Amino acid sequence: MLQTVTTLRDPLIRPLGRKASDALEKVFGLHTVGDLLRHYPRRYYTRGELSGLAALREGDHVTVLARVATARLVPMQRWRNHPQKGGLRERAEVTVTDGTARLTLTFFARATFHVRVLQPGKLGLFAGTVSTFRGHRQLVHPEFELLPESLADDRVTEELAAEYATEMIPVYPASAKLSSWQISKAVQVVLDTLDATEDPLPEEVRQRHGLWPREMAIRAIHRPQDKADLGPARTRLKWDEAFALQAALAQRRLAAAAMPAMPRPPVPDGIAAEFDKRLPFTLTEGQRFVGEVIARDLSCAYPMNRLLQGEVGSGKTVVAVRAMLQVVDAGGQAALLAPTEVLAQQHYRSITQLLGPLASAGLLGGAEHATRVALLTGSTGKAARRSALSDVFTGDAGILIGTHALLEDRVQFADLGLVVIDEQHRFGVEQRDALRDKAAGARPHVLVMTATPIPRTVAMTVFGDLEVSTLSELPAGRSPITTHVVPVLERPRFLERAWERVREEVEAGRQAYVVCPRIGGEAPDEEAGDEGDVADLIVGADGGTGGAADFAARRPPLAVLDMAPALADGPLSGLRVGILHGRLSPDEKDRVMTAFAAGEVDVLVATTVIEVGVDVPNATVMVVMDAERFGVSQLHQLRGRVGRGDAAGLCLLVTEAPEASQSRERLDAIAATADGFRLSRLDLEQRREGDVLGAAQAGRQSSLKMLRLLSDEDLIAFARQEASAVVEGDPQLAAHPALRNAIDDLLGPQRAEFLDKA
Ligand code: ADP
Ligand code: MG
Repeated sequence: MLQTVTTLRDPLIRPLGRKASDALEKVFGLHTVGDLLRHYPRRYYTRGELSGLAALREGDHVTVLARVATARLVPMQRWRNHPQKGGLRERAEVTVTDGTARLTLTFFARATFHVRVLQPGKLGLFAGTVSTFRGHRQLVHPEFELLPESLADDRVTEELAAEYATEMIPVYPASAKLSSWQISKAVQVVLDTLDATEDPLPEEVRQRHGLWPREMAIRAIHRPQDKADLGPARTRLKWDEAFALQAALAQRRLAAAAMPAMPRPPVPDGIAAEFDKRLPFTLTEGQRFVGEVIARDLSCAYPMNRLLQGEVGSGKTVVAVRAMLQVVDAGGQAALLAPTEVLAQQHYRSITQLLGPLASAGLLGGAEHATRVALLTGSTGKAARRSALSDVFTGDAGILIGTHALLEDRVQFADLGLVVIDEQHRFGVEQRDALRDKAAGARPHVLVMTATPIPRTVAMTVFGDLEVSTLSELPAGRSPITTHVVPVLERPRFLERAWERVREEVEAGRQAYVVCPRIGGEAPDEEAGDEGDVADLIVGADGGTGGAADFAARRPPLAVLDMAPALADGPLSGLRVGILHGRLSPDEKDRVMTAFAAGEVDVLVATTVIEVGVDVPNATVMVVMDAERFGVSQLHQLRGRVGRGDAAGLCLLVTEAPEASQSRERLDAIAATADGFRLSRLDLEQRREGDVLGAAQAGRQSSLKMLRLLSDEDLIAFARQEASAVVEGDPQLAAHPALRNAIDDLLGPQRAEFLDKA
């Protein structure tokens, strides 16, 4: 056969043919040779050391290396007693062992064949889904491949020898449709003709950090000669990911800094100054400091790109309002983008209230320096929408608040100077870009805010083009939140006590939330995170992903529409119970929130629509039902809704997850710490990195495979340094074609937008 050269960017069909490439595409979404070679082994077996069979968990799809211990034919009861077919049917029952534990392999079809082939003493790879039969773990009809005992073994065929050229046997992430060794064979075919000598990492960078050439690393990760190969191979492949990503971000930063922006310096006696005088509280030191930094940013002739992170309740909104007013004073406009209807409405209410007469330009009672605040959401009525759009177009409205309805084309600003994006974790780079594009001519300044604190490396990657500021203190007088886990199965009494606590708080004039994962009613499958108006924008939101991996409750998750009447007729009878969820019309939502804020509702039974930003200081207790269904950050956000006033907050996480399960550990960790930073690390550890990156960076299957944002902090920092230097010297990467390709491969088709929109 003609041996052509295979490169990383070739489609898989070239070296593998249609059948194999179709299977890889269908099962794992792999298109190119590079994609396949980035489908890294999950682990390696050494021929002498067998898999630990005792640790296998029911339901897992596993590939194990084990030795056949026994193989026999077993007559099947049902057939033996069958009058016509008596005694004819048998199954093969094979046990394999790792030396200590055993695993049963059961074959109903071709039983005699399997007993003949799987002779005691044979070594093989076996793959299947672990189930339990009469207390024993088993694989039913596993796929298998017998292996030579050692490479010196004379039974080794040439084909096997090539595939398992060392004592280390790679085990690939596999599925029932595609076994580890089928993948291994495909990899072997590709490696036989691979040429990947073109290296995206410049020689000096490799030297400085002692990195292997790329091709050497690729070959070693799939076919290690020795365990010692794995370390340097992995490091090098991590560098590839980190370096390409950081180079792309450096390009983006550079392009952004080259854009002109309109400077919006503060004026001494404008609305901003009036606003400060009107504030009913003193700013915290952090708010004042960040405010000064932002004021300076806004005065520059290139756009601000700042991320403001701060714990739930740290007072980010006021910081944003002051920035917006500075821009208004300078003759510009500001837009505030909120992730949900409920939050947009709340911002509108609280900001107009804080502004008072300063928000009533042209109206009776309006202050001398005044502007107008407009609200625009998916549900804004026709007339109100028309007047909002017109005020924004003429410039009469200095501030526009809304949901992603702000991104629509017909929203046109007279002079958009500042874009504020609240709760950034819900939005991807795309939304930031769409809004930014609304400024005619010069770029607007951008401030994004998040209450989910972001570890340094995530900030360097996901938000790699942003400067970061942090509000680390809460305003004085804020009360701490106490969190307890309520394990209903072990302690049913605790749940009764929880409802008693809710009654006590209400009797003391306080209010409560009860959060359920599901709405209920005619959509039984609906899950958490049901804010219909943003569901399609949520990028890597943590709704449920940290959820019930290890613990699948036997019943559907609890629903608002069931829970509310059950509480009103049961443990909370006599209290005023309201409901809030994503299927209510925006008007109804607003009505419910207004009633709750006014104290006309005692207990609000809700879905996660209340997750972000909702601010009702009189609410002091939150009971989260089926708490294990929610992600770590989500629970942290949720409990931030209580304890916002001067009374202490209490959050009760109700769960049926058994003691010592992973779910329970997660809930215990949340109960044990109020430190959002630690929790966000915990959260990140439990998610795939791909979920953490925005769509522009993780849109494709082949995003970060090797890099771990948490544990590879140092590597990422070095890569950032090196990549920035390369990009500064050669912004278009004209002299670095291999790096250009690597960026393309990493970011996929979105790359153009990702970079060009900077
Ligand atoms: P978050 O950072 O979670 O968005 P908010 O901006 O919603 O927090 O602020 C939470 C509450 O704290 C609001 O009611 C706000 O008016 C109030 N607040 C903000 N700054 C201060 C301050 N310096 N002192 C007292 N209360 C403040
Ligand atoms: Mg907020």
